[in-house]
Amino acid sequence: MNVDTTKQTGMVYRRCGRSGINLPAISLGLWQNFGGTDTQAQFRRTLRTAFTEGVIHIDLANNYGPPSGTAEMNFGQVLKSDLGVHRDELFISTKAGYTMWPGPYGDWGSKKYLMASLEQSLKRMQLEYVDVFYHHRPDAETPMEETMETLSSMVSQGKALYIGLSNYPTEQAERAFTILEQLGTRCLVHQPKYSMLVRTVEDGLLDCLERLQVGCIAFSPLAQGLLTNQYLHGIPTDSRARKEHFLKSASITPELIGQLTKLHELALSRGQSLAQMAIAWLLKDERVTSVLVGARNETQLLDSLQSLNNTYFTADELQQIDAILGH
Ligand code: NDP
Repeated sequence: MNVDTTKQTGMVYRRCGRSGINLPAISLGLWQNFGGTDTQAQFRRTLRTAFTEGVIHIDLANNYGPPSGTAEMNFGQVLKSDLGVHRDELFISTKAGYTMWPGPYGDWGSKKYLMASLEQSLKRMQLEYVDVFYHHRPDAETPMEETMETLSSMVSQGKALYIGLSNYPTEQAERAFTILEQLGTRCLVHQPKYSMLVRTVEDGLLDCLERLQVGCIAFSPLAQGLLTNQYLHGIPTDSRARKEHFLKSASITPELIGQLTKLHELALSRGQSLAQMAIAWLLKDERVTSVLVGARNETQLLDSLQSLNNTYFTADELQQIDAILGH
């Protein structure tokens, strides 16, 4: 089925560190909602909408689903049916670093695991190469040199155009960047968790990425859906918290609801939904190259994209947000 590519989008593209890559300010991740238990017609609509709205960066990992691997398979099918002819317009990433299969070679950061995993990811997505391959989390036991040499060899073999790191704390990230530089493969992008509710990256990582000119793509910007108006009046039946998978209903405390309600009111005064304000709050910082959202359907994605209409915050608004969250 053809995709309408004539539409003028309001998408803004931001340069990713010191590189030739321009990422859309909002990218789409397929961690949840695109797996074996989700509806094909739905995720196909979401992906088609993403593309026509200029969300040309799609983020995956070997273990996305559930079950693991199904998000890549499903994405491969949508590429075949709809988006594959636009491969050169799309920027596709995958990762490995969490458990995929039993035994010592199905997890972490060995060469054997990472090479096998990338081969499997390419097969599932029916692709010859990915644009970015990330090491998904640091491995305390495999020497970092082995992991970085493996990432570098993926680039020389043409199976990944660029490599990235995810969930690496500042010191480990800096060491990895140095090893990669010595190997002649610069790290393009770091993918940390970052939202109004989770701000660990402000303790040094963002400064480090800026100094070394590495891009930053922030994952779980809505704290898995908490930073939206979904939970203000209970837990909806079709929400992620109801599935009790990664987001537990026990984390939705009366104190959190109180804070979310105040943030929601502030967002309304800015003419935004809470989700839109939470995304805009990340984009106000130019060190954030792209905000990597999840979306259960195209309506959520379209709503989130409206955040691009206002990413400016007054000093007073920023202070109010910090005060509400006790930051
Ligand atoms: P978000 O924080 O954006 O949460 C997405 C969820 O928020 C949706 O499933 C939906 O919840 C809700 N939502 C989204 N948009 C709206 C809206 N406009 N209004 C109301 N509710 C909304 O991101 P994720 O936690 O899904 O992570 C995004 C991506 O980041 C992943 O897909 C993945 O690519 C990446 N990631 C990377 C990790 C890593 O270790 N590198 C770890 C985790 C994620 P509901 O379904 O309940 O309606």
